Amino acid sequence: MSGSITKDEFARMITGAAAMIRARHAALSALDCVAGDGDHGATMLRVAQQLEKAFAPGGEEDLRACLREAGWSVLGVDGGASSSLFGIFFGGMADAPADAGATGASQLAAMFEAGLATVRKQTKAQPGDKTMMDALVPAIAALRAAADAGKGVKESLYDAAAAARTGTEGTRHLTARYGRARLLGEKTRGHEDPGAASMSLIFEGFYDGFGESKGESGNA
Ligand code: ADP
Ligand code: MG
Repeated sequence: MSGSITKDEFARMITGAAAMIRARHAALSALDCVAGDGDHGATMLRVAQQLEKAFAPGGEEDLRACLREAGWSVLGVDGGASSSLFGIFFGGMADAPADAGATGASQLAAMFEAGLATVRKQTKAQPGDKTMMDALVPAIAALRAAADAGKGVKESLYDAAAAARTGTEGTRHLTARYGRARLLGEKTRGHEDPGAASMSLIFEGFYDGFGESKGESGNA
C-alpha cells in the first residue's frame, strides 16, 4: 500500500466524509425511524468522530496503521449493526496488498476492495437486499472501472460517489431483507435504506475531501 495515496490525502477524505455525516445525521435518523429504531444518525456521528480521531494530526503517520486504528475504534462505537460493518470496512482496507496498484486510483480501489471483502465475511447481504451494500458494491465497482480506465483519484471518487448515490436511490423501491428493517418487510418500500444513505454520504465526502487535497500525487 506504499505509493501515492498518502495518509494526509486519506485524512482529508475522512474529514470530508465526517462533514457530510454531521450535515445529514438528522435525515439519517429520520430514515431509520421509518425502517428501524431511529438511532442511525446518532451512531454515524460517533463513527465520524472515531474516524477523524484515528486520522488526526499528531497520530500515526502510516496509512495502514491509521486504517487499523480507525477500524478498531469504530468497532468499539456503541451503535448497532451499521457501526460494526463500517468498522470492519475501514479496518479491512489495511489488508490491501502492498503492491496494490501503480496509480493512486488503483491503490484506492484495492483498499476499498479489501474492505469490502472483510465486510462480506460478516454479512451475506447483496445489492438488492436494501442495505448499505446497495451503495458500497456499485461504488467500489465504479471506482475500479475508473481506475482501470486510467482516471485519476478525484475523477474515480466522483464516479464512486455517483454510483453510491444511484444505488441508494434504488433502495427506495426495495424490500429490506437484513437487519432490523427486515421485520417491517414491505413497509420499508418507498424510503431509502439508512445505511446505504450513510455510505453514499461517505463517498460524496471522500470526493469533496480529496478535492481539497493539496498535492494530489499527480493522480487527480
Ligand atoms: P441498527 O439496525 O442495529 O439500529 P443502524 O440503525 O445504525 O443499526 O443501521 C442500520 C443499517 O445497517 C441498515 O440501514 C443497513 O444498511 C445496515 N445493516 C443492518 N444489518 C445489516 C446486514 N446484516 N448486512 C448489511 N447491512 C446491514
Ligand atoms: Mg437503527
